[in-house]
Amino acid sequence: MRKKIVAGNWKMNLDYTSGIGLFSEIVNMVNDEVMGEQHVIVCPPYVHLGAICQLAKTHNKVSVGAQNCHQAQSGAYTGEVSAPMLQSVGVNYVILGHSERRQYFAENNALLAEKVNSALQHQLSPIFCIGETLDQRNDNSYFDVIKRQLAEGLFHLTESQFANVVLAYEPVWAIGTGLTATPEQAQEIHEFIRNEVRSKYGEGTASDLSILYGGSCNPKNAAELFAKPDIDGGLIGGASLKSRDFVDIIKSFSL
Ligand code: PEP
Repeated sequence: MRKKIVAGNWKMNLDYTSGIGLFSEIVNMVNDEVMGEQHVIVCPPYVHLGAICQLAKTHNKVSVGAQNCHQAQSGAYTGEVSAPMLQSVGVNYVILGHSERRQYFAENNALLAEKVNSALQHQLSPIFCIGETLDQRNDNSYFDVIKRQLAEGLFHLTESQFANVVLAYEPVWAIGTGLTATPEQAQEIHEFIRNEVRSKYGEGTASDLSILYGGSCNPKNAAELFAKPDIDGGLIGGASLKSRDFVDIIKSFSL
């Protein structure tokens, strides 16, 4: 069944004490204030994950995700972290294909397809990010870009594997810039993504898929975005670092 999801991507922010503090605040506020079926995911840096997974076990409203994983299970890859390692500390989700990974770490669709496979083999649901740059939007190639990201990164999966994927449409020009796609611009792409998934996997898979919007989403614009029929929630960067803003975004769904 399609889920309403808000996922927080902390990126490379917050030392250990501050991270545990923020997570505790979020858990308490979600428990006290959030009614309904929203699914909340928090994606801290690697070093916080073990402790945060332990805290998350004490209630059932917030899940934990990582921000990346390596495609191999183990081996001589200094500095990397694998999907089975994440699974072993209790992580349930992993962000893959974030534009910052594509841009700064040269991650391409072929590599991301391998990471997706490794995540799924270890019961991690990928939150798979796709989206166009400003140049691609301006030269009108953005539908092709998104089509290719889907085809090369995900469409090798079987239907039952794909059912574990969450998609995030994140126009690169809106990430961390304060520029947000209008609800109409976002809906247009979300509908396109769902149609691509429908053509590949059929109606059931397409209507069950959660597609999140990401890019300067905040408590002021979330309600309008989340009201669109193909927008099932948000992947939140900057605003996920403030518990009040993050929880207000979670409460923005019209239930
Ligand atoms: C992100 O990093 O996924 C993101 C959407 O960031 P921001 O909300 O800060 O634009």
